[in-house]
Amino acid sequence: MTIEIDNLRISFGDKEVVKGVSFNVAKGASFGIVGESGSGKSTVLRAMAGLNNEWSGRIAFSGENAPLYRPPAFFRKVQMVFQDPYGSLHPRQTIDRILSELPLVHCMDNIDDRIAKVLSAVALPMSARFRYPHQLSGGQRQRVAIARALIAEPEVLLLDEPTSALDVSVQAEILNLLADLRVERNLTYVMVSHNLSVIAHLCTEVGVMIDGHMVEQVTAEDLRLGNVNHAHTRELRSLS
Ligand code: ADP
Ligand code: MG
Repeated sequence: MTIEIDNLRISFGDKEVVKGVSFNVAKGASFGIVGESGSGKSTVLRAMAGLNNEWSGRIAFSGENAPLYRPPAFFRKVQMVFQDPYGSLHPRQTIDRILSELPLVHCMDNIDDRIAKVLSAVALPMSARFRYPHQLSGGQRQRVAIARALIAEPEVLLLDEPTSALDVSVQAEILNLLADLRVERNLTYVMVSHNLSVIAHLCTEVGVMIDGHMVEQVTAEDLRLGNVNHAHTRELRSLS
């Protein structure tokens, strides 16, 4: 799916935190959003995922405007993976139950078969099915969170700091998995991270956010080489 974001504005009460953000993502591309904590990155992703109905502007997938209140079919194609897999997986539900939820909501058939396939796609053993989140490692939990998104057969994955809560060695495993899945499944990614090397690993183009504005868009290569215009982008580079 292509993604078009035009003049996106989001306020909480009378505080505007996303102040007219625009960017486009080509089908199958991977767009990164960087910026310091509080700059509005997660708020942009949540609006794109349909988790916030208080926005204005335009959010379109494959040229079709996302309505403020989305029908289920629209939701299914755009899935989100959150930073902290512990927080986003229900502690009293087995992995089997967690993975069943979206197929049930979307009336998909052969749920058993789908769960087995998606566990294999994220390289988790079948025995993980009958475990609870606390019985898995952090990396395995993030694999479950990715599997939960994939089982809905999305076309877009919105990744909010998907590796920030993980040990460095596990971070690389998850990033490699995400890179492979994008190619295998022709997914389009928008990934938020405060870590420029994580973004460089997965993204081809990067938007830089500061205080609710996307002040600059550069290729990941130019970011790596330091061919950037905005002083804030240079500052982010020097911090990572
Ligand atoms: P980032 O992901 O870049 O760290 P966020 O998008 O989470 O930033 O937050 C941007 C700003 O919006 C912050 O000032 C944050 O406190 C505020 N904010 C986020 N969510 C809410 C909310 N539900 N209610 C009020 N303020 C919020
Ligand atoms: Mg955030």
